[in-house]
Amino acid sequence: MSDLLDRARTVLETGTGLDEAGVLAILRLPDDDLPAALQLAHEVRTRWCGPEVEVEGIVSLKTGGCPEDCHFCSQSGLFTSPVRAVWLDIPALVEAARQTAATGATEFCIVAAVRGPDERLMAQLRDGVTAIREVVDINIAASLGMLTQAQVDELVALGIHRYNHNLETARSYFPRIVTTHTWEERWDTLRMVRASGMEVCCGGILGLGETLEQRAELASQLQELEPHEVPLNFLNPRPGTPLGDRPLLDARDALRAIAAFRLALPRTILRYAGGREITLGDLGTREGLLGGVNAVIVGNYLTTLGRPPADDLALLAELQMPVKALSDVL
Ligand code: SF4
Repeated sequence: MSDLLDRARTVLETGTGLDEAGVLAILRLPDDDLPAALQLAHEVRTRWCGPEVEVEGIVSLKTGGCPEDCHFCSQSGLFTSPVRAVWLDIPALVEAARQTAATGATEFCIVAAVRGPDERLMAQLRDGVTAIREVVDINIAASLGMLTQAQVDELVALGIHRYNHNLETARSYFPRIVTTHTWEERWDTLRMVRASGMEVCCGGILGLGETLEQRAELASQLQELEPHEVPLNFLNPRPGTPLGDRPLLDARDALRAIAAFRLALPRTILRYAGGREITLGDLGTREGLLGGVNAVIVGNYLTTLGRPPADDLALLAELQMPVKALSDVL
């Protein structure tokens, strides 16, 4: 362990992430060494990202009925999972943005369960962004699936400052999880977004049955992309989806992954996303925030309930982690 930690310590000094083999070694650490790895990951996060935690709210503009078949996702219209297609109206969207801003969050991400946006969705987004801007001061992000170059350009013109599109899993495992589109199609969208100047938010979901090697592969593919933010999801098996019977990721494996992804991506915003409550519980949530995570989503996720925002904000206050202010990110 000491050799490994010595190597990992260079991340602290140089701000350069561990390579794939180094990430794999962290993912394989015995339980006894996990606290030291989390402590190092926390030091790396504090040194290269600062003490602040970024808070984000998400809202679903169009829920369910997606034509794609991502096997973990209850929003696919191809499974028997009980999420039906529903559109949110503009007043409800504005109210969600207002409530998100009231928590102190700086980010409000508008999400749609689609392969990519059609004209109806782009029109809703245009109207929604305009309406939000009239009454709420918050950064607006979007997650609308795969984009064309013209759509990327339009999002830039609308002032969308960050775009989320997850790689979900390692390239080598992706065909086992999604058959209706390819990993490369996702990568193409991400490259266009990055070239546009919008911030790139790109992460994945762990616990899909991928090997530790494939988890390390995903970390290395994210390194190549250099996203501004990496949301880390843990599978919350949804009834009716092909992965509905999968066991939860072991909490210690989830914490090893948090440390490993932080050591791979020392300067990136590493966000707790879906599945952390069920995978880690309260104690693990705290350990992750002291082990490399520096961003949270407040309130509810897209298809499952999260913790009340007040609980997360109280935990951040207790850990003496300031919430990043809007003035810092504009
Ligand atoms: S993850 Fe996205 S693209 Fe895949 S089925 Fe769910 S909503 Fe559709």
